[in-house]
Amino acid sequence: MTSFSIHGVGVSSGIAIGQAHLISNALLEVVHYQIPPHLIKDEVKRFIDAIDTVKADLEAINGSLRKNAPAEISAFIGTHLMMLADKSLSEAPIKIIENERCNAEWAIKLQMDDIVEQFEQIEDEYLRERKQDVIQVVERVIKVLLGHPSQLSTEQKISAASQEHKLILVAHDISPADAIQFKQHEFAAFITDVGGVTSHTAILARSLNIPSIVALQRAHALIRDGELIIVDGKQGVVIVNPDASILTEYKLRQEQWELEQQKLQRIKSTKAVTLDGVNIELFANIEVPEDVVAVAASGATGIGLYRTEFLFMNRREMPDEEEQFIAYKTVAEAMKGATVIIRTLDLGADKQMNPETIVTCANPALGLRAIRYCLSEPQIFNTQLRALLRASHFGNIKILVPMLCTLSELRQTKLLLERAKISLRKQNIPFNENIPLGGMIEIPAAAINAEAFANELDFLSIGTNDLIQYTLAIDRTDDAVAHLYNPLHPSVLKLIAMTIKAGEKLGKSVSVCGEMAGDARLTKLLIGMGLRQLSMHPSHILSVKQQILHSQLTMLKADARKVLNLTDLEKVEPLVAKLNRNSDLGLHLSS
Ligand code: PEP
Ligand code: MG
Repeated sequence: MTSFSIHGVGVSSGIAIGQAHLISNALLEVVHYQIPPHLIKDEVKRFIDAIDTVKADLEAINGSLRKNAPAEISAFIGTHLMMLADKSLSEAPIKIIENERCNAEWAIKLQMDDIVEQFEQIEDEYLRERKQDVIQVVERVIKVLLGHPSQLSTEQKISAASQEHKLILVAHDISPADAIQFKQHEFAAFITDVGGVTSHTAILARSLNIPSIVALQRAHALIRDGELIIVDGKQGVVIVNPDASILTEYKLRQEQWELEQQKLQRIKSTKAVTLDGVNIELFANIEVPEDVVAVAASGATGIGLYRTEFLFMNRREMPDEEEQFIAYKTVAEAMKGATVIIRTLDLGADKQMNPETIVTCANPALGLRAIRYCLSEPQIFNTQLRALLRASHFGNIKILVPMLCTLSELRQTKLLLERAKISLRKQNIPFNENIPLGGMIEIPAAAINAEAFANELDFLSIGTNDLIQYTLAIDRTDDAVAHLYNPLHPSVLKLIAMTIKAGEKLGKSVSVCGEMAGDARLTKLLIGMGLRQLSMHPSHILSVKQQILHSQLTMLKADARKVLNLTDLEKVEPLVAKLNRNSDLGLHLSS
């Protein structure tokens, strides 16, 4: 076995040693696990039910087609129905479930690979390309199966899949919708070929709290299933088939890392106060209500960003008002009166509700996303606003609006919020009449005009992930330009400074909830620039707090001004590194 290493971009630190678990190349990533004999019958039923559901869905779509719809659409659905009825898809996977005692998703995926291989032998190009239809049909079935998980518990799945080593997930690409599902599994690390540092897939990988690397280019092609690999999330390196000496070295590093993490635990209940007595609020970012457990363990004093769109993913219908109300109320109650900032739906771009419904447009990041989408779908927005208002009766909820660009978007939002309040009042449903409304500053246009936004809002939150993407014209999901994505670009820092200044002038709080907030190398600069509230993934709270405890704010303010005066990125980076070193020694930056 040859040993080799692959380099990518580390998005979550730590070291993991484990067995590579390659996940399917199909659009939907499939996990493989064993089913105990007494549950095989149920698994077969789950498979048959999924086939029936997809059949019914396709027939319904066919039935709803208008008379003047293009004939190809109906033919295309007909082909899919035919494939679904074919024994090779509707019956062969049952044999695989029974013989191999595997889960239904895996069985149909194996069968799909087999059929696709047969199609690839066909000489006729048109017929050969029909394999895409097979893949699409199978993906529909898998999607349904994932919505109806088998009766096995996560623990059973994991222990069945890996008896000896922990598993390391190796994928070419994973959509945020698929990545959120991996939150239920206990993988030791997570690596992908594509993706940028602040892509939503990378953010989710980080929230799994395991070492993660993206932009590895060809890891999925080079690594074989079951191979022993080391993942160094800090250095962004994967070592495949390490020899004994490397393995020993990394085991040592792994122990050291774990020791450092344990040491950090000592400051968990220490207040985040600078040496000169200024308190900095450290909040947590969450994606699903279950994340409140990690928030409580992190020492965060509130939730600065609850990304609600994940409640809308991997499903066919939107969550109704009641389901949303329960999710928001659960989080508010769990936080026992501490601040909970809930962001309204930010669907679009790389966060689609369902990969099947992706509307292709040339520039999704510049398209109908976030508040733009909500304002174009007022009914969907109204349902969420009502749920948020109702939940506000049970805790300290604040509403945050993503992707604001114009004041008119803000005013339309306020109008819809007011209408939702009126309808609740009429129904005598209690809610917080004075619920604070904040806006995300993540488009350069909003940062430049931050004062006007601060004037009409209760608070501002800087979404640096998008602010950097839109300022530097770098797609945050594109690994080809990942090296150009830089939070220290002077223009980015100036936009952040403008937003802080607007908040200070109008007495409105300003926080950062993008990934910059959780990067301990930037903490001193950010607080020196005037930020007093940072919201990040729970796993970053302690390392950021440690920086704060070593900060002399009066000194950092002057140093941050020097950094802000620079116009050349190449000069900013060394100066920020020096600022971190100097402030530890109690020294000013030399001018
Ligand atoms: C951001 O853009 O910085 C942000 C926090 O929002 P998201 O990452 O969900 O786009
Ligand atoms: Mg954003």
